[in-house]
Amino acid sequence: MPLIEADPAAGLYIHIPFCRAKCTYCDFNSFAGLEPLYGEYVRAVAQELESGPRAELRTVYIGGGTPTVLPLSDLSHLLEAARRGRPLPPGTEVTIEANPGTVDGAVLDGLLSLGVNRLSLGIQSFDDEELQLLGRIHTAAEALAAFQAARDAGLQNISLDLIFGLPGQDLDAWRASLDRALDLGPEHLSLYALSVEPGTRLAASIRQGELPRPDPDLAADMYELAEEACAAAGYQHYEISNWARQDGLRCEHNLIYWRNEAYVGVGAGAHSWARGQRWANVASPSAYVALISRGESPLASSEAIPPELEMGETMMMGLRLLDEGVPFERFRRRFGSDLRQRYAAEIDELDQLGLVEVDEERLRLAPRGRLLANQVFYRFLPL
Ligand code: SF4
Repeated sequence: MPLIEADPAAGLYIHIPFCRAKCTYCDFNSFAGLEPLYGEYVRAVAQELESGPRAELRTVYIGGGTPTVLPLSDLSHLLEAARRGRPLPPGTEVTIEANPGTVDGAVLDGLLSLGVNRLSLGIQSFDDEELQLLGRIHTAAEALAAFQAARDAGLQNISLDLIFGLPGQDLDAWRASLDRALDLGPEHLSLYALSVEPGTRLAASIRQGELPRPDPDLAADMYELAEEACAAAGYQHYEISNWARQDGLRCEHNLIYWRNEAYVGVGAGAHSWARGQRWANVASPSAYVALISRGESPLASSEAIPPELEMGETMMMGLRLLDEGVPFERFRRRFGSDLRQRYAAEIDELDQLGLVEVDEERLRLAPRGRLLANQVFYRFLPL
């Protein structure tokens, strides 16, 4: 299996699995305390990038983890390796995720000069007690300072992440964080309900009764509050958890995922999908480095996705896009069949339940379907 399939064009994801500290709720493939591995890891990812075939890149997304724990010289090395032999048309979205505790004016200037044109800032909350509960390494004041420094550096496309439904958080506290985010006028907002993942410190604190279990009904009210507040501030709610100030400011990289189009991930645990194949690298950063340095493939798994499953996943992912939905014509061009016929029974049932809407061009979630989206999605997967 080649490391990068020579697809006509793909989104590129580069995974940096390092963080200064592990947040209490986090079950991502990210680790604190691996500083001694940084240099070798960067060399391994650059090697994975350089050994892959050349294909035009539609987007570049450096995520984690916290990519900005790496020195600029390492980030520059990775971006150079990504670009070598791979055209990056002018204006291509190049995103980096950053934690407010890891960026300052000099880092942000440097990122811009490397061609980064979109910053995704993981703020999560503007309340210091909530930040502490989440185990974040920054305060609300530092988050504000990071945003201002990004603006001063000239970044014109900034996305903020916030989490709601935290233990002990009430509607007023959520409203306060959201209002502070909206007052900053970011180009994009990602607002996620807290999910308590098994094996995290947060899950243990809740199990031991140190923290209250989040209330799903309250989280649903918080989501509705976010919908109203973002609409009032002029944001388009374009995906279940994502809002953009205007069309051109939607996250191009994530749109590739939601449209189930080709992407290639490099680095530990990174997933890829292209031309009916899905593959993933080993998750452990040290195992990944060891394999690459021995000249071996970092692949942990690879599977062919049958067309029936690809269709179902295209429906499931596409329905996350609230106004775009799944356009009939795009589905027909890709799969050679009419989705209204292919999924007639499912659509009829979901329509009667008021969970989807069908017009002349597309199928999409009805407003009621947004809170019950999982009940809609599973119906499109083959049994
Ligand atoms: S900064 Fe992000 S990736 Fe790192 S531990 Fe916290 S939530 Fe996880």
